[in-house]
Amino acid sequence: MPEGDALHRAAERLRPLVGQRIEAESPNPRGKATGVARAVDGRVLEGVDAVGKHLLLRFEGGVVLRSHLRMNGRWRLDPRGGERRGLPWLVLRGREWEATQWNGPVLTLEKRAVRRLGPDLLADGTEVAAVVARVRLADQSLLVGEALVDQRLVAGIGNAWLAEALWHARVSPWRRLADVSDDELADALAWTRDHMRASVRGTRTPRSVYRRAGRPCRRCGTPVSSRGLGDMNRTAYWCVACQPSRGAA
Ligand SMILES: [Zn+2]
Repeated sequence: MPEGDALHRAAERLRPLVGQRIEAESPNPRGKATGVARAVDGRVLEGVDAVGKHLLLRFEGGVVLRSHLRMNGRWRLDPRGGERRGLPWLVLRGREWEATQWNGPVLTLEKRAVRRLGPDLLADGTEVAAVVARVRLADQSLLVGEALVDQRLVAGIGNAWLAEALWHARVSPWRRLADVSDDELADALAWTRDHMRASVRGTRTPRSVYRRAGRPCRRCGTPVSSRGLGDMNRTAYWCVACQPSRGAA
């Protein structure tokens, strides 16, 4: 099946960009109309796979670009910033290389990325222990403050709930997953689930740390800290006294 072969070769060609944060643009108006460049610009390319007749480029945040080359489409990889003739549909620029996609004809964002979501914390069938087990499958050098908002590991937790949950569980967002016990993870997740459910029913949970930087911790009075955390640079809020960085105090 020549088409599949061509796609595997194209996937191979793009691999040097994997792991890099990508600058994307669409010099060709037809490429620009797909909205793909805007959706992937600034995201880390996490993987490239040839699946059937499609090339799937997986970007951080669950964004998946699907490329079907039909007869005329092709991908090239060239040193970054070289001379170019013509208008590619898409340019993906890494540190040393840039990939260009020519002649489309099919360049779309994968609508089914939702399948990659982790278990929904609020769903009736979701057990906290199963979520903990899934988090253990992730890279354990991740900070707990990035892991629990990674929707591929567990779906539903945003930055505010994360900050509150870790404060209640007395876990610093800056600890690596490897240094956080199952009990601590389960504590934080169960607290989040219970209070999110309450919130769905209309019961508000007063905030303890989220957006309270500099104000006293409600438990110990230490001023609440805040700082950007992780690749997405979300602001973390925590109490350095109640949530020490190195294991339990
Ligand atoms: Zn405190």
